Amino acid sequence: MTQRFSRRAFLGAATAAPSLLIANDRPALLGGRPVRSKPFPSWPRITAEDERAVLEVLRSGIWCRNPDDRVARQFEQQYAALMGAKHCLATANGTSALFASLAALDIGPGDEVIVPPYTFVATINVVLLHHAIPIFVDTDLETFQIDPTKIEAAITERTRAIIPVHLGGNVADLDRILAIASKYRIPVIEDACQAHMAEWRGRKVGTYGTTGCFSFQLTKNLCSGEGGAILTNDDQLIERCYSFHNNGRGRVRHGLDFTYLTHGSNLRMTHFQAALLMTQMTRLEEQTRTREQNAAYLTQLLREIPGIHPANQYAGCTRNAYHLYMFRYDAEQFAGLSRDTFLKALRAEGIPCSEGYKPLNREPFLKNVMTSRTWQRFFPKQEFARWQERTRCPVNDRLCQQAVWFTQTMLLGDRSDMEQIAEAIRKIQKYAGELRKAA
Ligand SMILES: *Cc1c(COP(=O)(O)O)cnc(C)c1O
Repeated sequence: MTQRFSRRAFLGAATAAPSLLIANDRPALLGGRPVRSKPFPSWPRITAEDERAVLEVLRSGIWCRNPDDRVARQFEQQYAALMGAKHCLATANGTSALFASLAALDIGPGDEVIVPPYTFVATINVVLLHHAIPIFVDTDLETFQIDPTKIEAAITERTRAIIPVHLGGNVADLDRILAIASKYRIPVIEDACQAHMAEWRGRKVGTYGTTGCFSFQLTKNLCSGEGGAILTNDDQLIERCYSFHNNGRGRVRHGLDFTYLTHGSNLRMTHFQAALLMTQMTRLEEQTRTREQNAAYLTQLLREIPGIHPANQYAGCTRNAYHLYMFRYDAEQFAGLSRDTFLKALRAEGIPCSEGYKPLNREPFLKNVMTSRTWQRFFPKQEFARWQERTRCPVNDRLCQQAVWFTQTMLLGDRSDMEQIAEAIRKIQKYAGELRKAA
């Protein structure tokens, strides 16, 4: 396939006029023709089935789970079955799934929660919202995941939870994380918001932790605009999550039952979301397989390019969900061309790309929050400097300088898309010196 394509490309180029050949070969940023002008597959994907499902909810008038929660229940049962979990609770979004999990585990002011610095900010925000202290543990440069060898040293008598994130649909080292968690009897909340269908040793992620949290936000691999879910095998914990997400009320019996089990919030999913997720879900396995195959092919192509280092997986990761395709860019192999200019050049070739996250542990807003008036009751102001020192993540700092991302939708096309990505990078490498001078 590779050979056939490149041969065809070669023959095509060879029969073109010499001037065109030169123009084609030069980077688009230097006036050459872009490798690609076609857009990558669009997202979300909508079928007549989706339209029917949403319309059915609309016409039923039962738009939310009170007083009749059958649509939400049906989604919860289907998602639990797909994931292999005993219980599922649908939530308004991924942030609320994490937020309710922490509430159900009674995590509060001054408690410490271990988190990675390389994640979407929601992972940290839910900790701060409970007035708990995020303890950042450095990243494994090779996998982009929380470094399992550095977790144990971060545990203190105040540690109340570990939130590993399966970042990009790749899987954090669950064997080691679960071993540490069980040694110290600390609950694990899996942030699987980017990892629908990802597997560890043949079992879906999100089913290993005390809870597993998912997001169905529009860009996620399974989506309904907004949406989320909590998975757990714990009969009592699911009821605590339910109550918290339903303003402290118990299971829906009728709308005018004003008895409360606890405090809480309204974090409920609507039936529009639930119905859409059920039809979208029927295509998830096939889409996951397409992403996996394209990503494997892309990795094979990119590993041949000096200075491009695709993220590795731990041996236990038996399926990567590829919410993101992530690699490290080594400028030294590109004549010192900065990552910023590399990204610009790649975009000019028709390949959308991103530099990804900045180091969360260095976010200036953290100081404002953690030295605020309310925090001083359990976190003396002078603690902040010590906390900063304790949560330095030098490897993550480096990763954030080198990372490049492609989004999951770019993996939904065919193999020739992957070949064009590799071709664009090879072209940039060839002209890296010139690009650097022009920048
Ligand atoms: C998307 C995401 C969330 C939050 O999910 P929302 O549905 O946007 O609230 C949390 N953690 C990670 C890692 C995410 O990617």
